[in-house]
Amino acid sequence: MENKMIYFDNSASSIPNPKAVDSAVTAMKCFANPSSPHFAGLKAKEIIEDARKKVADSLLCKPDEVYFTSSGTESNNIAILSMVEKNKREGNVIITTKAEHPSVVNTVLSLEKRGFRVEFAPVAGGEVDYGFIENTLKTQKVCLVTLMQANNQNGALTDLKRIRNIIEETNSEALFHSDIVQGFLKVPDGMASYASAYCDAASFSAHKIGGLKGTGGLFIKKGLKLSPVFFGGGQEGGIRSGTENIVGIAAFGVAAEDFSKPFRDKITALRKLFIGKATALLGGDIEIKEPISHIDAVISLSLKGIKSEVVLNYLSSKGICISSSSACSTKAKENTSLAAFGYSEEYNNSAIRIGFSPFNTEDEVETLIFELKNSLAYRIKRNK
Ligand code: PLP
Repeated sequence: MENKMIYFDNSASSIPNPKAVDSAVTAMKCFANPSSPHFAGLKAKEIIEDARKKVADSLLCKPDEVYFTSSGTESNNIAILSMVEKNKREGNVIITTKAEHPSVVNTVLSLEKRGFRVEFAPVAGGEVDYGFIENTLKTQKVCLVTLMQANNQNGALTDLKRIRNIIEETNSEALFHSDIVQGFLKVPDGMASYASAYCDAASFSAHKIGGLKGTGGLFIKKGLKLSPVFFGGGQEGGIRSGTENIVGIAAFGVAAEDFSKPFRDKITALRKLFIGKATALLGGDIEIKEPISHIDAVISLSLKGIKSEVVLNYLSSKGICISSSSACSTKAKENTSLAAFGYSEEYNNSAIRIGFSPFNTEDEVETLIFELKNSLAYRIKRNK
């Protein structure tokens, strides 16, 4: 089964980049503690700093603005909790949306118990309501704006530059954080610098770009001094104590360095092929939700009248992996993003998510479409 697997669940966790896997294997042999002052510890530390430079280059920021963490989830928690703590004198209002990842939504909701108030900006159709954000910043005491760069369900993009401009014009004391876990290195060319240019902090994760699970990153703009939210030996500038995951960090550096324009072009080509052929073959049976501004790496679609799980299970029986919604929201038993976008219940019940990797092939896309078509027939037969 493993050899024949066709994997299109890359937004949940991506196909690993073989170069990143090689670097992880090499790093496993450097088992000394990177904080140890002997030569073996220094070698381990060197691996971390080399990866930090690679990640910083890919974010167009300085190495000392990059902090390694255990996940995108941890980065979101550290960023939000430390930023509101730092800025609470400016106000107690946090602006976000209900389409954010649970690691953002549940973190801000936990802050309500500590006296903060959360304003959820509408995201009808996928696009965040910039007017709502502007008005809230003008009329309320906002300490933090936290908005994802690219949505994990349908790829909808938030214009981080526009948000920065709104903050500067209305309440320049508000801090701005973005969850760029899905957008990192996948936003269209020319937008690559947006997070480091326009945010005070941004969270990202290795396993969405061909690195390993259990390795995240946090960009914190130079000069913004954040206090730790948990304590230990002071690694990663004290922001994320705990002996570093050098294996994951080494792979993260290589995956980030390798994820350049040819990878984005490949993803765009696979998406175009998929949409062109799937629409031609499936006609009125397929509905694709494509926000005006989006990353190409993820598509939300539904096969009309068929529950997501039926399609997912059928494809799985054919060795094809997709998801019915995000892996995290599956656990939470609700698809918060799609509900927030205001899509119909009928669509949401049938929604599936295709996530592309630069390591997918055109043949795999053809097979996926062929089996999507077959899943339709299978369902119709069973219903009769
Ligand atoms: N933010 C977004 C938008 C995500 O899609 C995910 C994972 O799916 C996360 C955060 C969490 O990242 P991690 O799996 O590294 O904790």
